[in-house]
Order: sequence, then structure tokens, then C-alpha cells
Amino acid sequence: MAYYDDQSEDYLFKVVLIGDSAVGKSNLLSRYARNEFNNNSKATIGVEFQTQSMEIEGKEVKAQIWDTAGQERFRAVTSAYYRGAVGALIVYDISRRGTFENVGRWLEELKVHSDSSVVVMLVGNKSDLAHVREVTVEEGTALAEQHNMSFIETSALESVNVINAFQTVLREIHKIVSRKAL
Ligand code: GDP
Ligand code: MG
Repeated sequence: MAYYDDQSEDYLFKVVLIGDSAVGKSNLLSRYARNEFNNNSKATIGVEFQTQSMEIEGKEVKAQIWDTAGQERFRAVTSAYYRGAVGALIVYDISRRGTFENVGRWLEELKVHSDSSVVVMLVGNKSDLAHVREVTVEEGTALAEQHNMSFIETSALESVNVINAFQTVLREIHKIVSRKAL
């Protein structure tokens, strides 16, 4: 959903968080939206989203950021979840190689369910666990380049690069959408 309100001249973008279970999607969102971190993974049923605003070129840009809320555990992320998304963050855990190896599957699923112009960012979370790292920065960078995505490593725990990750996606979407509106 890329929605432009003529009257207030504001934007509303739908952005989805995807990636394997327990990579830190919910904590990235709670860190970004509320500056909170939770040690316990809550496997709530159903989907949730948070609305968060930022200013770009003097306009308010609102992001409706959707979190899978545990559906991915059963590989049951619905098409409704993806519908209308203009941005996606595909998250893996740098300390669990399997979550990186599954990035391709998430990309495929995203492609099936959304527009080809969707802005995608690859996020290697848990950078604070560098001492037990199973995926190098170079591997993340290379995979992102291969699929034309931006790449960033984050730590929801230590609050590193989290705002940066979301804002990079929103700026890229804004760039595309405002160009289209011309
Ligand atoms: P989700 O299933 O992808 O939504 O993952 P959660 O946000 O529920 O996090 C799964 C587990 O990883 C929880 O125990 C979190 O405390 C932990 N976690 C999330 N982000 C980080 C991080 O940046 N660093 C570390 N060390 N642990 C994290
Ligand atoms: Mg979650």
C-alpha cells in the first residue's frame, strides 16, 4: 500500500517483516516503534502492525510495519500479509546459518505475493553475537548485491542500526513513489 493523501500531503507505506522464526523480527519492530526489547519470544497468533512516522523532505511519511506474530513457525504467512506491501525487511540471525540459507525462500515467497517494485532490505540481526557468528558480513553483502537489495547488520538487543534499517527502506520507497507521482 502506497497511499498519498492530497490534503495533508502525507504518505502511508505498508512494510512487512519476514524471515525465519526467532531471528528477532518482533524485537526489531519493538525497538524501532517503542525502544523496547523482550527476551521472551511471544508466539501470538494473528498479525499485528505498528504505525511509525518519520519526516522526509518536509513531508510526514507513515509506515505501517507488519509483524508475522509467529505465523512463520508454521510456514503459514498468508497472502493477506503481503498484500499491498511496498517494502520488506528480510531478517536472518548472523549466529544461525540456517536462517541465512533460507533468505532465498523468503525472497521467492515475497516475489509470488507482491509487486516487482517492492523495496527489499536484507537484515543480519544479532550483531552483538559476533563471537558466535556463522555468517560473515561479506556473505550478507554478496547475497544482497546479487538480489539488488540493501544490506545492514543490526542488533535489536543493543539498539544498533535498527532505526537506520527501517529509515533506509522508507527513504528508498519515498524516492520511488515521489518519482512516480511526478
Ligand atoms: P522473531 O520470532 O523473529 O519475531 O524473533 P523475536 O524478536 O521474538 O526474538 C527471538 C529471540 O531472539 C528472543 O529470545 C530475543 O530476545 C532474541 N533476540 C532478538 N533480537 C536480538 C538481538 O539483536 N541480539 C540478541 N542477542 N538476541 C536477540
Ligand atoms: Mg515474532
